[in-house]
Amino acid sequence: MPLAKCPRCNQMFNKKGAPVCPKCEPDEDADYETLRKTMEGHPDLIPTQIAELTGVTLDCILRLVAEGRIATLPDQQAKAVCGRCGAPAISLSKRLCESCLQKLNSEVAKAQASIKLGKKKKLQIGSGMYIRKWSENE
Ligand SMILES: [Zn+2]
Ligand SMILES: [Zn+2]
Repeated sequence: MPLAKCPRCNQMFNKKGAPVCPKCEPDEDADYETLRKTMEGHPDLIPTQIAELTGVTLDCILRLVAEGRIATLPDQQAKAVCGRCGAPAISLSKRLCESCLQKLNSEVAKAQASIKLGKKKKLQIGSGMYIRKWSENE
């Protein structure tokens, strides 16, 4: 077990997995909860803004990010919301959430079906007229 300096209280401790000492772990977890809740309500904030808003130190935020407990998103991606319902989008390019994407897919399928139907009708009218002309000439 490597000896490490706790980034919160600067005490040396046996690092088992957590980046902070056992004494500071509850504080770290509390900060994490605060951050998590804040980020849910403000998904477009950058770390420095979150630090300002929550009072959690930027060091702590970056530490949690490095640990993978908090995922930071590039600014643009953080703003990727569903263009239909405002829910977080599955990707920036799609700009749709999972449920709206499914809805859209079924709408597209329906639209394609009706387009095919429309073409068929026109074709039938056209061929019907052609036959009539043909018989007129005879
Ligand atoms: Zn500590
Ligand atoms: Zn949606």
